Amino acid sequence: MKVLVVNAGSSSLKYQLIEMETETVLCKGVIEKIGLEGSLITHKYGDQKVVIEDTINDHTKAFNLLIDCLVNKDYGVIDSVEEIGAIGHRVVHSGEEFDSSTYVGDEEMKKLQSVAHLAPLHNPANIACIQLCKSLLPKVPNVAVFDTAFHSTMPKKAKMYGIPYEIYEKYQIRRYGFHGTSHKFVSGEAINYLTSKGLPCGKIVTCHLGNGSSISAVKDGKCVDTSMGMTPMAGVMMGTRCGDIDPAIVEMIADNTGMSLKETTNYLNKQSGFAGVSGVSSDARELCKAAAEGNERAQLAKDMFAYQVQKFIGSYAVAMNGLDCVVFTGGIGENSWEFRELIMQNTEFLGIAFDQEKNKTKEARGNFCDLSKPESKVKVLVIPTNEELVIARETKEIVQSL
Ligand code: AMP
Repeated sequence: MKVLVVNAGSSSLKYQLIEMETETVLCKGVIEKIGLEGSLITHKYGDQKVVIEDTINDHTKAFNLLIDCLVNKDYGVIDSVEEIGAIGHRVVHSGEEFDSSTYVGDEEMKKLQSVAHLAPLHNPANIACIQLCKSLLPKVPNVAVFDTAFHSTMPKKAKMYGIPYEIYEKYQIRRYGFHGTSHKFVSGEAINYLTSKGLPCGKIVTCHLGNGSSISAVKDGKCVDTSMGMTPMAGVMMGTRCGDIDPAIVEMIADNTGMSLKETTNYLNKQSGFAGVSGVSSDARELCKAAAEGNERAQLAKDMFAYQVQKFIGSYAVAMNGLDCVVFTGGIGENSWEFRELIMQNTEFLGIAFDQEKNKTKEARGNFCDLSKPESKVKVLVIPTNEELVIARETKEIVQSL
């Protein structure tokens, strides 16, 4: 079966077509700046790439271009859309309506619409894209795979906020967590690796560190806690998001600057984190470069981030009553030896013997790599994430069970 994986944002659309027999990516691409000036599609197949600049006013045009790329005589990878067995959609927020991936029929579509407001920047685009696929390719089943679903196994004590219970009941305000497909993929890979070595794998902390970052505690393969919350703004500070702050600060900033509540939230979402603290960039590479050149605020941002990740690792070791493995993934986790080194400081007492030398090697960049010394009681692994593959696998499983 061939599964088309679609990740629709408000102005972008990413896709992959995956042959599930071999789990091979046949082609992948991204359509950027939908509805904006300079819209374009970048389509990759084999080791080739085409970039098409076009006026792409809306998602309907974007999706039609995507289909054309799939079946195009010169750079397509299938003869007709009939070959697409299913479409798997990344959907950001499930609210309390779903705790796992789902086939999207009329009933499910209604439920999706009822929770769209929980992720106003993402869910409406996800839903619109599913509707578009249903109308353009009516014979192909659609499956929604949620960022939040892997975290649905969290116990209530980890899910709930210290706010009046009625508010939770009325508005579904609680911790949901995000990057679920990534945490699921890398914890699954870690479990396979540790099991193959005859090592314990019941207590894993997965650190997805990228432009957005989240940390999860995975006990016996199930998520028991995660750092992001009702929204992806919570947890550790990120490229542009502030992470956990005292909630009273929101009103203080609004009062002092004259910004509205909405503007303040946007400020904490888009202009804070690495970018706001350093004044240099939201990008970890730029931050490391500036810090190496002596920029103190860039160094401060690096130190803050590493310290915050450390605190989550420590608290999750307590939450699980032990630790077998720490996994690094995401753009920073997979590639930045500097951040991994900072984060692994002060962790010896947990039984971690971190191999600092191996951490700096090419082998440890973007590849599966074991960074723990042989005597380490806790394994430290770099595992490249593959969220699209999780979406494709779940889509195939659901469609085959229909
Ligand atoms: P992601 O959101 O997972 O794509 O991750 C993006 C982040 O990863 C950005 O902050 C990048 O600067 C960071 N990143 C990617 N490659 C490297 C690298 N070699 N060293 C440090 N950070 C990196």
